[in-house]
Amino acid sequence: MKFEPEKPPLTGETLDSLTLRLKEQGEPAFRARQILEWIYKKRARSWDDMSNLPKSLRAWLADTFDLSPATLVLGKQSLDITDKLLLELRDQSLIETVIIRAPQDGVGLEHSRKTICISTQVGCAMACAFCASGLAGLKRDLSAGEIVAQLLQVCYREDARTQRARSELASFDNIVVMGMGEPLANYDALIRALTILNAEWGLGFGARRITVSTSGLVPKILKLADVPLGFRLAISLHGATDEVRDRIMPVNKAYPLEKLIPAIRAFSENHGRMVTLEFILIEDVNDALDQAVKLSEIARDLHAHVNLIPYNSVEGLPWKRPSLARQERFVRILEEARVSVTLRREKGHDIDAACGQLRLKTERDRAAVS
Ligand code: SF4
Repeated sequence: MKFEPEKPPLTGETLDSLTLRLKEQGEPAFRARQILEWIYKKRARSWDDMSNLPKSLRAWLADTFDLSPATLVLGKQSLDITDKLLLELRDQSLIETVIIRAPQDGVGLEHSRKTICISTQVGCAMACAFCASGLAGLKRDLSAGEIVAQLLQVCYREDARTQRARSELASFDNIVVMGMGEPLANYDALIRALTILNAEWGLGFGARRITVSTSGLVPKILKLADVPLGFRLAISLHGATDEVRDRIMPVNKAYPLEKLIPAIRAFSENHGRMVTLEFILIEDVNDALDQAVKLSEIARDLHAHVNLIPYNSVEGLPWKRPSLARQERFVRILEEARVSVTLRREKGHDIDAACGQLRLKTERDRAAVS
């Protein structure tokens, strides 16, 4: 499902595609670099900012491309310094982009670890039972330009917050493609967006600091395994047996563990990278000891890191977060099995930070007043 805007976003163009479009207009090739520099390095917010371009070229650009396919409608900052941006697209669809700041011991906020979490679809078709994004199903895929535009909005927000003219995107530690949507279900736009994000003429963000997270689309994991792009992979496992995954993740019916695990291994071997297994701990669903034991076996077999995330409750869904004691008992079993494991303290409880919640609430409020 795609949305055809009146004008394509400029943020979806690569250096090659823009050079080609300019060439067709009789413009020299160097203009493409100049334009991309205005967007990504100088953060131009209007065509008129691009002062070293001839007026006629600026007019052609304005007629041909959309400079801002995503507009900030709401920025919510939580007490634990998670920032959630609600963005509106040209068809009034809403998406979420989250900035997570994790202060390090003994240093100020400016030196905290910063991660940006971006979305790839409006809604999601995967229907994971615990997730707000899947509740209303998939509305449409994002274009590459809309995916990249989220990062520019983060830059604008960071510029304003730090009161610097232009803060560097490189000052963020990681970008995770883990927001709304299943990234590998929108494969081509994802790869194009990550190429722009990574390129020196684009946002220049290192591939090793970009993680793509999937619920387990095996054919696409295998396709990604063959692409020499250098991005990291995380698997939303959330169950260490088919029985548990079947209960909460419909994708497991098509791609059960006997298919998923070899695909993860193929990626890991081809890229020489440790894969992360994401595991949201949900009370009485996947927090029992036998799940911890099975998870240890899978992680050891794959030489994978395990990231445990205590569940964030979602309005209208019955699932709960396990007690701290149960969370810690689960971690201990993995540690005793010598698995590399972290227990993430979920950020942003007070701003509906679980995937898709802020959008869902805003969509419901909009429906109520219309
Ligand atoms: S957890 Fe991810 S894949 Fe599953 S429904 Fe939510 S957004 Fe989609």
